[in-house]
Amino acid sequence: MKKNKKRLLLLLPTKTYRAEAFLSAASQLGVTVVVGSDQLQTLSELSPRKSFVIDFSRPEEATKTIVAFAQTHPIDAIVGVDDDTTVLVSMAAQALSLPYNSVESARITRNKYQMRKVLAAAGIPSPRFEPVSINTNPARVASRINFPCVLKPLSLSASRGVIRANDFKEFRQAFRTIVSILDLPDVRARNDPRTQQILVEDFIPGVEVALEGILIRGQLKVLAIFDKPDPLDGPFFEETLYITPSRLPVEIQEDIISCTSQAAEAIGLREGPVHAELRINNHGAWIIEIAARSIGGLCARTLRFGTGISLEELIIRHAIGMDVESLQREQQPAGVMMIPIPRAGILRQIKGKTDANQVAGVKEITISIPIGREVLPLPEGARYLGFIFARCSTPEQVEIALREAYRRLEFVITG
Ligand code: ADP
Repeated sequence: MKKNKKRLLLLLPTKTYRAEAFLSAASQLGVTVVVGSDQLQTLSELSPRKSFVIDFSRPEEATKTIVAFAQTHPIDAIVGVDDDTTVLVSMAAQALSLPYNSVESARITRNKYQMRKVLAAAGIPSPRFEPVSINTNPARVASRINFPCVLKPLSLSASRGVIRANDFKEFRQAFRTIVSILDLPDVRARNDPRTQQILVEDFIPGVEVALEGILIRGQLKVLAIFDKPDPLDGPFFEETLYITPSRLPVEIQEDIISCTSQAAEAIGLREGPVHAELRINNHGAWIIEIAARSIGGLCARTLRFGTGISLEELIIRHAIGMDVESLQREQQPAGVMMIPIPRAGILRQIKGKTDANQVAGVKEITISIPIGREVLPLPEGARYLGFIFARCSTPEQVEIALREAYRRLEFVITG
């Protein structure tokens, strides 16, 4: 372990998949870690001086806690993990005079309606949109909707509650479904005014990609572009395959990078990880979403930089002021399959894991939901059954390996 005198505050939501990856990256760098989390559970293995509980849904209060802590234990850098910490990181960074995104820009990325407004005003290709109050009778807005359209909550993530509607009947049904999702206990507990509206957008046809990057003093450094070879045409938008490098022509990749860079600039993002989803069609690249965080789930395991540096380590290096500009993703094509939840019930058994692991190129299969646990598919759910990782000599082979491994798995869900 290297020695490093910096103290890093890591904001780790209890439900993150990535606590271990960030903690081991920090230990690799030898930085002193302090963890802020929303429940004690994540912190149980850390000493009290190295952890505290904060409420991510109350960023003003949480910032006060962080500032008070920093008076006795100076903090040199803050890294937030997953969507729920984005606004808090920017607020705490501002309070401690650490370089990061402005609070305003972080807030824009956490509100899909605000984001659409900013992108449209900057002339960045993005779908036509309209916010609709959850109390509106859908029939009253029907005449203004272009079909097909996509309905979505303003502030949820992982495609939760994102639904395509091809006609008014589907629109009304999707609207009802989203209203009921916004009424689920975990969503209500957030006490969030954004849950009073639903965003309705034109459906943008085309292939989808994700861009993983890091902003350094306002400049976008591209870390990877992932193709998503499974069509995402709805009605729900289940993420499955992510494969890098992209097989799209160079000009299209340049368009993807330029569109993401303009979107980050329009929103005012300047420092730290960004993850963007874009669609590509005859009109070029369209921004579906840009978030001030790194890729979710365990998907970061597909990426390695320089001599085996993880994405989490790269993010921490940047936060503590080390140079990351020269780091490049290792050349070998890699990919992940996020295993979707096929139906609601209790996960009873997983068959075929040994067979699936034997597929050439498959490096790891991780099941992220314990046997006996209740599972919920989209549009209500927001978890994956697990992740399959592969590395091969071409992206095509990665895709074949992931599909074959998935085919060999069987999930027994009852009830
Ligand atoms: P979340 O933040 O919950 O992931 P997004 O707004 O990124 O929500 O939408 C999730 C997925 O739904 C996108 O990756 C895309 O596949 C699909 N999607 C969302 N909006 C549109 C749209 N306007 N046109 C086409 N597909 C869309």
